[in-house]
Amino acid sequence: MPYSFIYDLTRIPQGVIKQLFTLAYGARLHKLLGGQAKRFVKAFKIDEATGLNLVDAIALVEDLIEVQVANSIQRDKFERAERKALLLPHCARSCMDKQCMADFKADVPNYECKGCRGSCLINKATALGKAKGYDVYVIPGGACAERILKDKEYDGVVGVACGMELKMGLGLLKKLGIPGQGIFLTKNGCSNTSLNLQNLARTL
Ligand code: SF4
Repeated sequence: MPYSFIYDLTRIPQGVIKQLFTLAYGARLHKLLGGQAKRFVKAFKIDEATGLNLVDAIALVEDLIEVQVANSIQRDKFERAERKALLLPHCARSCMDKQCMADFKADVPNYECKGCRGSCLINKATALGKAKGYDVYVIPGGACAERILKDKEYDGVVGVACGMELKMGLGLLKKLGIPGQGIFLTKNGCSNTSLNLQNLARTL
């Protein structure tokens, strides 16, 4: 949980998020990041909707924009990639104790989902990724992502994580020269996190 705060994007109306991205493009991003993010947070009461303080709400909005912009810039190259990996966060498993039947593989550091629960988000996301031809990895953090991407030599990647981790991932992808698409967790935290499966399906 790299953020020091918990957010829940589902508490922000979808229309507001769409408007945020539209405004971001219209303002050519850097201006929005340079101060308009604060005005946007206040105008749409993002802090109130999410229960975050103003500083954290601004950080969240700025990260949302930055990741969205990176996605847009890398989309064409990403679509041309042939060998793609989907990296999912282990904190979205429906349970993280021994009830989860996933095995942790030390050689390729990831949890191998056994599909023990039909309602588990990781089970559903894994099925979506595999159906689209992705190799799917359920990982506990960015260090595993780096090892997997380096060892397996993928030429495209989709990662699901909180904004701060996605931003760190952007640096990694730049270093490795791999185009990627980042998907925000709709709710972050150490466990019981959430992701939007429709958004994932659209991105894959
Ligand atoms: S479906 Fe997969 S990730 Fe979810 S609890 Fe079962 S083994 Fe763990």
